[in-house]
Amino acid sequence: MRVYLSLGSNLGDRLYHLESALKQLGAHERIHWTACSGCYETSPVGSLDQPVFLNVAAEIETDLTPLELLNVAKEIETGLGRTETWRWGPRVVDIDIILCGSTVISSDRLTVPHPEFRRRAFVLQPLAEIAPDVVDPVTGKTVAELAAGTQAEGQVRRLHDVVVD
Ligand code: AMP
Repeated sequence: MRVYLSLGSNLGDRLYHLESALKQLGAHERIHWTACSGCYETSPVGSLDQPVFLNVAAEIETDLTPLELLNVAKEIETGLGRTETWRWGPRVVDIDIILCGSTVISSDRLTVPHPEFRRRAFVLQPLAEIAPDVVDPVTGKTVAELAAGTQAEGQVRRLHDVVVD
């Protein structure tokens, strides 16, 4: 199944955290990442009293179930968080599952497509770079159409390509 992820970091060495998370995803034997957007700097939404984020969108192919993938994402988040501090602190990387093919899930642990993604410029603009024609199975709109509707909201600026060896 083709899956789209959104990764964000606003603590410490943000680019290192994003690249490490991408590398770990790609190292998983049942995950192949096939495309990655550039790196975007985005102003925080909601609570403004926090550092600016870096965000990327990634396309992967996997035969993991969405719930198995969520568990892998949580392990990577926890692993990267633990290298940052010995205390139980804020997470340094957030991995959200945005779209899983045309699958629609609504369970306690997982909602797919991600419930917030349609109004988040920091998710949609990176995603539109790698998957403009992919269709949201709930609204029938393409990622490009959804992204166009968010442009006025929040500041999202493309910085550079992401290179993961
Ligand atoms: P977060 O604060 O973004 O790490 O998300 C907290 C919780 O949201 C996770 O532990 C998941 O159980 C839940 N969740 C529900 N839907 C999703 C999704 N599409 N992607 C990632 N997490 C999700």
